[in-house]
Amino acid sequence: MGRIVAIVGRPNVGKSTLFNRLTESRSAIVDDESGVTRDRQYGKSEWNGMEFSLIDTGGYVEGSDDIFESEIRKQAKLAIDEADIILFVTDVQQGITALDEEVARMLRSSKKNVLLVVNKSDGSAQFITAMEFYSLGFEEYFPVSAMNGSGTGELCDRIVELLPGDDVEQTNPDIPRLVVVGRPNVGKSSLINAFIGEDRNIVTDQAGTTRDSLETRYQKFGFDFYLVDTAGMRKRAKVSEDIEFYSVMRAVRAIEYADVCIVMLDASRGIETQDLNIFHLALRNSKGVVILVNKWDLVEKDSNTAKEFEKVLRERLAPFVDVPVIFISALNKQRIHKAIETAIEVHHNRIQKIPTSKLNEVMLPEIEHNPPPATKGKYVKIKYITQLPTHTPSFAFYANLPQYVKEPYKRFLENKLRKHFSLTGVPINVFLRKK
Ligand code: GDP
Ligand code: GDP
Repeated sequence: MGRIVAIVGRPNVGKSTLFNRLTESRSAIVDDESGVTRDRQYGKSEWNGMEFSLIDTGGYVEGSDDIFESEIRKQAKLAIDEADIILFVTDVQQGITALDEEVARMLRSSKKNVLLVVNKSDGSAQFITAMEFYSLGFEEYFPVSAMNGSGTGELCDRIVELLPGDDVEQTNPDIPRLVVVGRPNVGKSSLINAFIGEDRNIVTDQAGTTRDSLETRYQKFGFDFYLVDTAGMRKRAKVSEDIEFYSVMRAVRAIEYADVCIVMLDASRGIETQDLNIFHLALRNSKGVVILVNKWDLVEKDSNTAKEFEKVLRERLAPFVDVPVIFISALNKQRIHKAIETAIEVHHNRIQKIPTSKLNEVMLPEIEHNPPPATKGKYVKIKYITQLPTHTPSFAFYANLPQYVKEPYKRFLENKLRKHFSLTGVPINVFLRKK
């Protein structure tokens, strides 16, 4: 069981308003992409320190105003197949419609956790009317106003209660969980086959705590890692339409389970928006990243080609450019060991804990040499630095006036951390705190 929450419901009940409300603390994953990617359909939410991915299935249907019933049924089915918790959104001001009843029937017969959201409960009158929604047959319902936010706290409390604990952490944390992600046809299966070979050297199935056994441990050629099985996820997707929806869902889920995302591109096609979306998805989830440029055998090369390709690629990846880029051919098994080796290195970068003494020894002189700019005549003094006990490397800089330290200086600190420590491939956090 993972942490994917899907929003389902007929048009205009307020799905996207609710989505925006629940993701407002963190911007949507594809926030500044326009057009093609139809922004704000998947994002991360956080409540009481628990994170989950949120997907607005309605966003995947074109012209959702005159959407047909069959589309909504399909949406509900997608959510049942792929999500862990379903938010079934209805509209108290419009009341229960025949379509609501039909969707309710579908959802009730699934084994998923469904939370009935009675939206547009903006005032006490609607709160009372919301009771009528019991007739849809769910044990509980949540009157909310996506517009003004009331009731959404209770809803989030319940979501977080239903989310599994850190079951993902049960497997040996020193052994990296890798996942190969990328657009269709970039060569993901070819890479996995090239590496694993015919005799899949399976050591153990993951301790079967959940129905979905999504990772398998491999020990091969001196490497020891879990591979998150996206092929298994693929089998569950039967609907051939909605490829985009499924591939996003699968990428979201696979990334959630992984420590390090091996993001694969097809060299013969260059870098496409969808590649960047997947890359950003990994970053937003604070996962380690390695980029593999596959099908390098197809590219006509001279001695500069790789260098130039890499330069263009890094410009597109900016501002997060401290990431390994490896040119491979899954077909010819060229540099595939290097790829796995690098992914494992990134994992170690990500789980390392840098001693406080070492951090201070290295960073304080850098800061002294290049202190934060004075603001309103006040001088910021950073006194000491420690790494926080989080999954992702996070560093707290304690200062007298932390609020005066702005983004550019935080970037400076991040760059210095990256210069002195092995943090390649790892998104990090820099916090300024009051001494
Ligand atoms: P979707 O089609 O289900 O994604 O619905 P939208 O989020 O686009 O909302 C449809 C309409 O309902 C918009 O005009 C919203 O402003 C409105 N709406 C959404 N949530 C609320 C709410 O809590 N109260 C009220 N009164 N209107 C809402
Ligand atoms: P997936 O959809 O990402 O799993 O991609 P596949 O592994 O199924 O590969 C898609 C196609 O690309 C297949 O026809 C592969 O044979 C081909 N392919 C994969 N890797 C390479 C490569 O390194 N070089 C070349 N020339 N073709 C490749």
